[in-house]
Amino acid sequence: MRHIETASILGDRGVSGNEHERGVAPAIHYSAVFAASDERDFAEMSTVPQHARNYTRYGNPVHERVKAVMATLEGTETALVTGSGMGALTTTLLALLSAGDHVIAQRRHYMSTANLLDDMLTRFGVELSLVDQTDTQAFARAIRKNTKVIVLESPANPLLELTDIASVAQTAKAHGILTLADNTFASPANQQPHALGVDIVVHSATKYLGGHHDLTGGVICTSHALAERIWHTHVTVGSVLSPMDAWLLLRGVRTFPLRMAQVNQNALSLARRLSEHPRVGGVVYPGLDCHPQFDLACRQMRGFGGVLTFRVKAGDGAARRVVANLRIPQMAGSLGGVNSLAIHVATMWGGTRTQCADGNDIPGDLIRYAVGIEHIDDLTEDLFQALDRSA
Ligand code: PLP
Repeated sequence: MRHIETASILGDRGVSGNEHERGVAPAIHYSAVFAASDERDFAEMSTVPQHARNYTRYGNPVHERVKAVMATLEGTETALVTGSGMGALTTTLLALLSAGDHVIAQRRHYMSTANLLDDMLTRFGVELSLVDQTDTQAFARAIRKNTKVIVLESPANPLLELTDIASVAQTAKAHGILTLADNTFASPANQQPHALGVDIVVHSATKYLGGHHDLTGGVICTSHALAERIWHTHVTVGSVLSPMDAWLLLRGVRTFPLRMAQVNQNALSLARRLSEHPRVGGVVYPGLDCHPQFDLACRQMRGFGGVLTFRVKAGDGAARRVVANLRIPQMAGSLGGVNSLAIHVATMWGGTRTQCADGNDIPGDLIRYAVGIEHIDDLTEDLFQALDRSA
């Protein structure tokens, strides 16, 4: 399947079906456990990794479908599903790391990823170096003899700095180090880290893949060998995607390429229009040619995603009023759904005090706008009225 519009619909055809499953829409297998037909069958169910009909923490027929679609979208051999994006990250890193190993990550990560890295993993004896992701050579300089994994996130939440994924992956490979990329912000429609050399691609499926703000889920896309290794930890960690959320994710992913095309278009238009607004002090969006890494964005991304940030010239109070005065986006700390959301960033990040998600360096006049698929003229009119009323 050459096109993601087709792959997102057909990627799971024939997977996990049996002669009784003739529905055009997939069935939800809402069972925590499956019965064996005889003792031989039971022995197989109990010992074959990722068996889809044994015990739902180990696997489930709906999981099988999601895994097949996601591996196709990210171009990997296979995938695993988890109960959240953080479940995907935690499970993967716990599977790959031991006390005494060294990890290189970025100074900027999603705040819970930052907590996982520089609070939780370091408590278990993992060494951590944080580098400026915009300085590609910094990753190579941070490599030690015991470096096992490099963690990437591009664009990074919330200031949308980019990482040169292909360069870092190449350096890592030359040193036998695994790379893990959180592709949530870009989504596989816009960026495929595996094609750029990354070993493991993770997602918060709660965002663009689900697309409707109604499920919590995570995905790990990788090789068969790494998936098997990670799956053994997954079964222990127990971050399980519920069959209902797996089904919702499957349903969401069918329209993901269409939604993403609209989101990309809306966000680029809104970023351009906002840049010209007299009350706006600067817009950060990887698709704007004023973004400091615009060339890199064009090299590694096909579209630039739905998240943009901008500063309000009149300062902190005015920025808070803009968010409060918006009529279309609700004030909520997520992204990737059909409806737009907006937040005053410092309010959300203000309590964050980890090394790689420091709320102190978030400007008080910064707004994060996560664009949905509403009509661009309605979004623009609404945002402009909120800016005017904030004065
Ligand atoms: N990665 C990124 C970039 C995120 O923005 C988020 C959540 O906002 C996560 C991971 C965690 O995902 P979840 O909330 O599904 O655990």
